[in-house]
Amino acid sequence: MTFIRRFLLIMLVLFLLLSNLPAIAAEEVVVVLDPGHGGKDNGSFGVLNGITYTEKQLNDIITSHLYDSLGNYEGIKVYLTRYDDSKPSLQTRSTMAGDLKADLMISLHMNALENAAYWGGTEILVHSGNYLPQAAKDTTSIANDILNRFTKHGLKNRGVKTRTIDGDDADFYLYPNGAYGDYYGIIRYATSMNVPAMIIEHGFMSNASDLAFLSKSENLKKLADETAAAVASHFGLAKGNGNKVTMKTQEDLTLGDIPTTLTVGDEIPSLTASGGSGSGQLRFESNDCEVIKIDGNKLIAVGPGNANITAVRGTDGEYQAKTSDNYIRIAVKEPYVPTPTPTATPTQAPTPTPISTPTQTQTTAIVPTQISTIVPTQTPSETNTQMPASASITSSPQATNKVSDGDSSADDFWTVILIIAGVFAAFIAISVVLLVKSNNKNRRKYYN
Ligand SMILES: [Zn+2]
Repeated sequence: MTFIRRFLLIMLVLFLLLSNLPAIAAEEVVVVLDPGHGGKDNGSFGVLNGITYTEKQLNDIITSHLYDSLGNYEGIKVYLTRYDDSKPSLQTRSTMAGDLKADLMISLHMNALENAAYWGGTEILVHSGNYLPQAAKDTTSIANDILNRFTKHGLKNRGVKTRTIDGDDADFYLYPNGAYGDYYGIIRYATSMNVPAMIIEHGFMSNASDLAFLSKSENLKKLADETAAAVASHFGLAKGNGNKVTMKTQEDLTLGDIPTTLTVGDEIPSLTASGGSGSGQLRFESNDCEVIKIDGNKLIAVGPGNANITAVRGTDGEYQAKTSDNYIRIAVKEPYVPTPTPTATPTQAPTPTPISTPTQTQTTAIVPTQISTIVPTQTPSETNTQMPASASITSSPQATNKVSDGDSSADDFWTVILIIAGVFAAFIAISVVLLVKSNNKNRRKYYN
């Protein structure tokens, strides 16, 4: 019996050890922090006591605080989407988080609203849940925790928000399941990369009390600590030593030759690019997917307008992804649709019209209106033809002058003919009208 007991005890210990192995060997939680804006893009701004603060400046400060705060938790790997004053595209930022298989991406921003100084507080934008319902749940829960913690520091809780693209543009931003895409690029691209993401709008730079709070680095540190605590609580992380990963910025890539004008429906089957550092996956981006869509290496012109095409080399172990500053701007034009010829040619025929119109009035019965329109429209063109010699600048754009240029005697001839035709047509019209009237009178008699 004791042997069986011992055996069972050993088995139990082994079982407990084995069942805990996954937890022991658990991969670190990967969090990607995205300092909003960058480069020439300063984002919003606010003025306090004569000092102008830019959003980019405050975003950079709070991001570095959060990078440090998260680094104080065990089992975490923290990355930044930019380590310098560059401006990766929203797609590149989210794609980077996707490359790193991030468990969470936090984009850090400050709000502002013109002519609404009273507007203040924190709001957090998350997934609509149209495509990644679990990501929407998780980010909503973390966001609510962050907002509650922020209220302790006097920031108003404006709530967790979602927004999707609907209306005419919706078709260009649908998720693979056909649902409406999220409105905010960071969240939409993160969704398509399977990364839970949120945008924290920490406060309003246009609000005096918000800005008074946000403009102090020590206050931003408090907010960063609260955010880190909410993230740690969600992932069950204890205080300890996290891993703050630094990455190298990539060199610019050069796009291969692409025509700079395309027609809707045109496709370029395989885009190319050279240069860049690292060995990450080569990708291409369009800044307007209503004009140009990118599907892998294929470019598709989908609508009229202009779009910038950029090459990006994805994140690898050492190098962060970077949107190339070298983009190619492509103009996409509507396909040429020839206008139906039968209606277009008669009206465009240059001078023969004067002769044909009088004969037309003779055959058709609607004469009265026809005459009144023909005669006045013809006279302005007469004055035009007499002017070219002296006023060539005003009359030159008129294409119709082509035929009558320099031959005023022929024009005089045609005007005489036209006046005669007009008088003749008017005579016929009056007689037709009189005839019809008398006819009607007779009919009335009949029906009454
Ligand atoms: Zn912003």
